[in-house]
Amino acid sequence: MAGEPQTDCLFCKIVSGDIPATIVRESDTTVAFRDINPQAPTHVLVIPKVHYPDAATLAAAEPQIAADVLREAGAVAADEKVDGSGYRIILNTGSGAGQTVFHAHAHVLGGRGLQWPPG
Ligand code: IMP
Repeated sequence: MAGEPQTDCLFCKIVSGDIPATIVRESDTTVAFRDINPQAPTHVLVIPKVHYPDAATLAAAEPQIAADVLREAGAVAADEKVDGSGYRIILNTGSGAGQTVFHAHAHVLGGRGLQWPPG
């Protein structure tokens, strides 16, 4: 059922604690943890605790939780002190855009110069 934990989902297992992660923030509805393959000095993933396959699907079903993800992404940037220099929130959506984990997540990247457009 939409929003329910999925037994085969890596990020649901991080939410449940079955797979370890370096958690940097947690709220009632979200968890933020360091990406295992960082692409910048700060590379944190913010995920909803509920399972939806991507950010747009989450926003359609649970707009408050989607807002929580964005709020927490901003809080991560402040915690990491990259908010002043600028940071990027990325929502890869679909395999053609590079999404590899189909549990909604926002990447927070910062701590280095970021190019535009992204590759
Ligand atoms: P996507 O490519 O936008 O779906 O992002 C998925 C991200 O999850 C990638 O940047 C991976 O490096 C990251 N990732 C995969 N497995 C783990 C893990 O076990 N812990 C933390 N990050 C992970």
